[in-house]
Amino acid sequence: MSESRAFCPRCGDAVPERSASDANDPLRPGAEVELCDSCYFEDFDFVDAPERIDVRVCARCGAVYRGNRWVDVGAEDYTDIAIEEVSKALGVHVDVEDVAWQIDPEQVDQNTIRMHCFFTGVVRGTPVEEQVTVPVKIARQTCTRCGRIAGDYYASIVQIRAEDRTPTSEETDRATEIANEIVADMEATGDRNAFVTEVGETDDGLNIKVSTNKIGKKISNKMLEEFGGTVNDAETLVTEDEDGNEVYRVTFAVRLPPYTPGDVIDLAADDGGPVLVRSARGNLKGTRVTTGERYEASYEEGNSPDARKLGELEDAAEATVVTVEDENAVQVLDPETFQAKTVSRPGYFDPDAETVPVLKSRAGLHILPDETDD
Ligand SMILES: [Zn+2]
Ligand SMILES: [Zn+2]
Repeated sequence: MSESRAFCPRCGDAVPERSASDANDPLRPGAEVELCDSCYFEDFDFVDAPERIDVRVCARCGAVYRGNRWVDVGAEDYTDIAIEEVSKALGVHVDVEDVAWQIDPEQVDQNTIRMHCFFTGVVRGTPVEEQVTVPVKIARQTCTRCGRIAGDYYASIVQIRAEDRTPTSEETDRATEIANEIVADMEATGDRNAFVTEVGETDDGLNIKVSTNKIGKKISNKMLEEFGGTVNDAETLVTEDEDGNEVYRVTFAVRLPPYTPGDVIDLAADDGGPVLVRSARGNLKGTRVTTGERYEASYEEGNSPDARKLGELEDAAEATVVTVEDENAVQVLDPETFQAKTVSRPGYFDPDAETVPVLKSRAGLHILPDETDD
């Protein structure tokens, strides 16, 4: 049993000695001597609250200005925002345990919400409670991003074009989709500067205006990855920013290959028969519709071998098979004249088929693969 006594350093009253664990409390370093309860509660301040809170909220997107930047808070309404800002601004004394609190928001006018906050807790074994009221003033503004969107700001243009043709609706639809996906991914990582300013059709394709050069580069690379082709970028000096740095706008000119999968083309350089295009990424690849053999353009020809387009897989008509002549020839009824004609028998021809898809073109009649099941 210890005989030592401790005394309140302020009033001199005897106080119980501190336990070892209390003396080592990291929250009260150096607090070697305790005040008595009565001196302690004289100074005790449970809740620390500001007189009022000013919040800048973007009226368009609901972002809140914090520190020195706009932050998306995902708040449903201004009351939510006010509650969150009050929660951040209020402090409670570190000694208090079992802190519980509730907020009762009172809408005073359109831009003022009075927050009635009620706190309870326990300190030195004594229940404490406190009520504070903090008015939250909402200032409706326009954040940097919304200001830029409203001002049709853009830093980059992606031009979707194609060689010797206009891009298909599949290609332009996909380009728009890619742009929106890339922006959505960047937004999901908290990037507030990513947006699509405008998607506009032109006579020869599509122009996509986006907020950063990085997005423009990503869109054009993804288009190349999916469709093949080339991209060229060109910088244009547009202005200087507030710090005097030169600001460039980058145009990415995507040039899609001349032929797309599904096209049937006649190659100028050989007489091996028309080719159904399978892929235009890298070197053009396809299937000979005379034999069913695989075709691949040379490295020099790339995705644009010298050829003329005969038609598309979609243009095929059903023709009745009359007879299989031998391993190289089949007799079918011409779908237009209904005259029997002998045509090449490609490897993919099914000898049991009663009808086959055929393409009638300047190069004659050819059996195409039956891809209706795809
Ligand atoms: Zn005292
Ligand atoms: Zn905004």
